Amino acid sequence: MRVVLATRNPKKLLELQQLIGPRWLVLGIDSLPPFPEPIENGKTFQENARIKALETSLHSPWLTLADDSGLEVDALNGAPGVRSARFAGENATDAENLELLLRKLEGVPEPARTARFQCALAVALRNNILAEFHGTVEGSIITNPRGVGGFGYDPFFVPIGSSLTFAEMNPDEKHKLSHRGKAMQKFRAWLETQGTQLAQAQNSQES
Ligand code: IMP
Repeated sequence: MRVVLATRNPKKLLELQQLIGPRWLVLGIDSLPPFPEPIENGKTFQENARIKALETSLHSPWLTLADDSGLEVDALNGAPGVRSARFAGENATDAENLELLLRKLEGVPEPARTARFQCALAVALRNNILAEFHGTVEGSIITNPRGVGGFGYDPFFVPIGSSLTFAEMNPDEKHKLSHRGKAMQKFRAWLETQGTQLAQAQNSQES
């Protein structure tokens, strides 16, 4: 059985591949014929995940999984939120986004640096949303980056109950705690129950 992961972010793609498990043949969006980038103009992670899943499913005969995720910082009233990837501008790098985040948090004392990662997943087939899942992890933003793993805001995020940043953890440790790990656990459970029907739907598409 095949699933297309609707992301062009290579590090997010890698995490989703690690989390989906061995039963599924995973295809990147680049294995589909080229199509215009979906416009992520939703106000919530869930809306953006739906936009990406539906648009990609129009160009694919296979099950499509989209992830929209990001960081909400309480002292910034929930920013960067759905703008996490483009906090410092449309084509901002992770380093530019991190620098802006730190600047905006200058002078904010440790107890007030609370934050969370959110992950919304949407599953689509032939322009229909079949299921949606969500995961979240609470934590705080430190002042000096630590670690080289993960991506995005990981070097600054320490989840509650840990002394390590996500970037200091190995992938399995991060997945056990992370927003994406929690959402993907629900997706995998759904796949277990829906798998036969999905395989039939996919086979009928391919024949
Ligand atoms: P999206 O591709 O529009 O969903 O943007 C996701 C953005 O949120 C990424 O580019 C990162 O900046 C941030 N983000 C999402 N998940 C993570 C994570 O697991 N670690 C660090 N940053 C993340």
